[in-house]
Amino acid sequence: MKPFTFERAATPAAAAAAARNPGAKFIAGGTNLLDLMKLQIEAPTHLIDVNGLGLDRIEPTPEGGLRIGALVRNTELAADPRVRRDYAVLSRALLAGATGQLRNMATTAGNLLQRTRCPYFYDTNMACNKRVPGSGCSAIGGVTRGLAVVGTSEHCIATHPSDMAVAMRVLDATVETVRPDGSTHRIPMAEFHRLPGDTPHIDTALEAGELITAVTLPPPAGGAQIYRKVRDRASYAFALVSVAAVVQPDGTGRVALGGVAHKPWRVEEAEAELPRGARPAMSAILADARPTRDNAFKVTLAQRTLASVLAEAKG
Ligand code: SF4
Repeated sequence: MKPFTFERAATPAAAAAAARNPGAKFIAGGTNLLDLMKLQIEAPTHLIDVNGLGLDRIEPTPEGGLRIGALVRNTELAADPRVRRDYAVLSRALLAGATGQLRNMATTAGNLLQRTRCPYFYDTNMACNKRVPGSGCSAIGGVTRGLAVVGTSEHCIATHPSDMAVAMRVLDATVETVRPDGSTHRIPMAEFHRLPGDTPHIDTALEAGELITAVTLPPPAGGAQIYRKVRDRASYAFALVSVAAVVQPDGTGRVALGGVAHKPWRVEEAEAELPRGARPAMSAILADARPTRDNAFKVTLAQRTLASVLAEAKG
């Protein structure tokens, strides 16, 4: 690990101001960043500890939703009675992620900001445009079984690994931030994570030094809320495909996919197909899919997973 300096921020605005330094990184739970530092994939020169900022509360909003502090731990969020009752898809997605020990440390903001698990990203002997911009993409033409099938580019075909983010996307959450100049900013989840395009090293819409302070959920959507994750083993594995769904009694609803793209994948126009069943809905949701030979199975797997979710929603 490379040497770095360390400070504990006193306020969110002070933390964001300190992050003007291009070598600075925020640290909270550290469940991803510390691994990346040990592997020298990330080498910050300055760490800003944000754990003492008091951003660890879950509060009702005047509109009838919930405001989740950036530092609320995944375990606490999954167990919150309001989340379990009104946003069950979020609680289920959180419990599908990682292990109990990791959920005890991982924060709401950190979960959104975790980096891809593309194996070439973690191997510093291999070219990777996300790790070293312009170096190439070893995954293209390599082993791609776990990688993206939709929204890819010629520069990167990685997936975003978060389960929680898929549920946040189907719930239409909004990310709240503070910028280095002290101004606040609200980013809809639909715009928070980026597609790789020709800048795959940029994962999110955050500006340099911008600190997440909370994630806001709108008033409860009701309906049957289901998160189904398909993976190679029963725990401690990332999704091959996941489906977050909110399905109303008349069959209408919303659906977002995990494990298939560089961001939680939701195509709102395609949701009109949901009452007609999984096949037409998934054909519309993955209409632009460009799978590789290794991961073409994900298209069928997504359709079958949605069919199972719709069947469960109907009881
Ligand atoms: Fe890197 Fe993306 Fe290519 Fe993986 S898919 S090697 S993360 S550029």
